[in-house]
Amino acid sequence: MEIRKVGVVGAGQMGNGIAHVMAAAGFDVVLNDISADALDKGVATIQKNMQRGVDRGKLAQVDMDAALARISTTTKLPDLGIADLVVESATERETVKQAIFEDLLPHLQPHTILTSNTSSISITRLASRTDRPEKFMGFHFMNPVPVMQLVELIRGIATDKPTYDTCLGVVEKLGKTAASSEDFPAFIVNRILMPMINEAVYTLYEGVGGVISIDTSMKLGTNHPMGPLELADFIGLDTCLAIMNVLHDGLADTKYRPCPLLTKYVEAGWLGRKTGRGFYDYRGDEPVPTR
Ligand code: NAD
Repeated sequence: MEIRKVGVVGAGQMGNGIAHVMAAAGFDVVLNDISADALDKGVATIQKNMQRGVDRGKLAQVDMDAALARISTTTKLPDLGIADLVVESATERETVKQAIFEDLLPHLQPHTILTSNTSSISITRLASRTDRPEKFMGFHFMNPVPVMQLVELIRGIATDKPTYDTCLGVVEKLGKTAASSEDFPAFIVNRILMPMINEAVYTLYEGVGGVISIDTSMKLGTNHPMGPLELADFIGLDTCLAIMNVLHDGLADTKYRPCPLLTKYVEAGWLGRKTGRGFYDYRGDEPVPTR
């Protein structure tokens, strides 16, 4: 099946990146968010990131202009009815995603493929509440979307082969690489990554090391490009906590219990880079550790 028009729900850090790479690859994009402010910020981010590509000689100005012209924005979900493929990338909360699908379904064409960029929620369960579980799957981008090479493609129990193959074709058109994952909590990347981040927070919580010691240890001791706490701030601490809860509930194993310190940061609204403060305080010229 040929995909021409892509609807993206959620214009946050992931949604604007998805709109960016889709438009750059030649797809027409309709970007939706409940917040007009989020849409403005999302488009400004896309412009800034594309401009960086132009300044570095990686993207021609004419291609940037054409890509931006392919993106339209809307606060109204029904406007996504023209899409051949929808990528839902709203807040990582099952009730939010479920409400979006319920509102969206009456406006979709029968052939439209519905996907979610969820980091951890069951694709099979999300799909089962739609009218098209066979045309539903996980389309999981990595952050930052324009930079990261991988897309995890997650088949729900009912996902059919044409749907999978079509999504694989889209990933190839984006110039990215797909990894296929079965639909179990947090899939592959976050099943491995999040327990490591959570353990780094426990290491901080128990006073084994401070923020700088922990991040320096993992960067210089294991050759990770970012320390786990820096990475958690980058991902968003609310997203990290949500994923740990999904692992804990879905696999019913205490080894996945979220660290109380992670919960405390989220309760404080210290969600990382996106709110200006997390394990580091980003409000000055240089990030300063908060513990
Ligand atoms: P974010 O908080 O930056 O953005 C979420 C956006 O969704 C916000 O702009 C919000 O206004 C919007 N939104 C909320 N409810 C909505 C609704 N009903 N309709 C339309 N828009 C709505 O979050 P994010 O980091 O971009 O995460 C989005 C999704 O991507 C989540 O499912 C997350 O698990 C997944 N994801 C995140 C990362 C990461 O590193 N942050 C990586 C891969 C996947």
